[in-house]
Amino acid sequence: MKDTHKIMILAGDGIGPEAMAEVGKIANWLNSRGDIGLELEHDLVGGASIDANGVPVTDATIAKCKEADAVMLGAVGGPKWDGVDYNIRPEAGLLKVRKDLDLFANLRPAIVFDALIDASTLKPEIVKGLDILIVRELTGGVYFGEPRGIETLPNGEKRGFNTQTYTTSEIRRVAEVAFDLARKRSKKVTSCEKANVMESGKLWREVVTDLHKNHSDIELSHMYADNCAMQLLRNPRQFDVIVTDNLFGDILSDEASMLTGSLGMLPSASLGAEDPETGKRYAMYEPVHGSAPDIAGQGKANPLATILSFAMCLRYSLNRGDLADKLEQAAQDVLNKGLRTPDIMAENCTQISTSDMGDAVIDQLGELIKEAA
Ligand code: NAD
Repeated sequence: MKDTHKIMILAGDGIGPEAMAEVGKIANWLNSRGDIGLELEHDLVGGASIDANGVPVTDATIAKCKEADAVMLGAVGGPKWDGVDYNIRPEAGLLKVRKDLDLFANLRPAIVFDALIDASTLKPEIVKGLDILIVRELTGGVYFGEPRGIETLPNGEKRGFNTQTYTTSEIRRVAEVAFDLARKRSKKVTSCEKANVMESGKLWREVVTDLHKNHSDIELSHMYADNCAMQLLRNPRQFDVIVTDNLFGDILSDEASMLTGSLGMLPSASLGAEDPETGKRYAMYEPVHGSAPDIAGQGKANPLATILSFAMCLRYSLNRGDLADKLEQAAQDVLNKGLRTPDIMAENCTQISTSDMGDAVIDQLGELIKEAA
């Protein structure tokens, strides 16, 4: 029997539990074959936790997340909880998990699957084969910097202000993640900031350049964030790994993900610091989409974003890049066969349910594992 990995499952609200059920099926299937040992523990987050516990995540749940090897999160929120107090809104649960686990590096892949190439708003020849990974700093920068606020000036006019701050260590740790990830890919990092007009950008560039001395096998380039926004539309395939701060990362990762054209296909990972003694790193994996209350409970949800998030979990937290590759390939093969949930339905394809999509991925995974044996 392989080592057992503990995964904390926080399925959340809306389509979260439906999509996560498909991950559960895949995990159980892998377990039953002895490909890996996975112990899944389930708990509540978001609206489901508000209903049961009065808060969007309990301290006990956070403690269990810290004990686990990785956390898988579905989605939170929905109209049912729109009226709750701002501090205990469903999204606050998600933010608390990210904060308490100090998940400072947000990874957003933007991959264009051949079968879905027409879903992109860009021409197929521009996005064919696209595979970018955006690493966004998640816990610092202008979203958290002090001082911040809205003040009234002596002349009665109001002034809103926020502060962009980054320390050397905050920049180093996220850049370190980007270099390490690039090593497992095409060995190219593009670091984005606005060093031409912002001191924090100037420091960002200096620190990344200095750190690069320890990663000279990786090709490093620097790009102003506004140019990066243009290049993502002009020639996105020039990029491999992009590392950037919280604000620019927020915008650039949304732009890059839309090159792929489909919200139901986008996974993400958020990583924390590695414990130097145990080598363990807190991590949470979640689809980019929300709880989609408009289609919840109807078997229409596309589970692939959650399944691909599980693939990232296998690769980055469980050190099973071999299984991650196969799972990603299985998802791609299923699309190539023309099987589609309603959100990505196209001409000459067969529409299937959330659960059928999970089954189809398992069938294909079985084929791939058999072929490799
Ligand atoms: P959403 O991502 O839930 O849905 C946007 C549109 O995309 C909807 O039409 C939905 O049906 C569709 N969609 C999304 N995921 C899909 C999937 N996997 N399969 C098929 N169709 C899919 O965004 P929204 O409607 O703006 O927000 C709904 C709720 O989700 C809100 O309460 C919002 O606060 C919350 N939200 C949560 C997260 C999160 O948990 N990380 C992220 C975004 C929004």
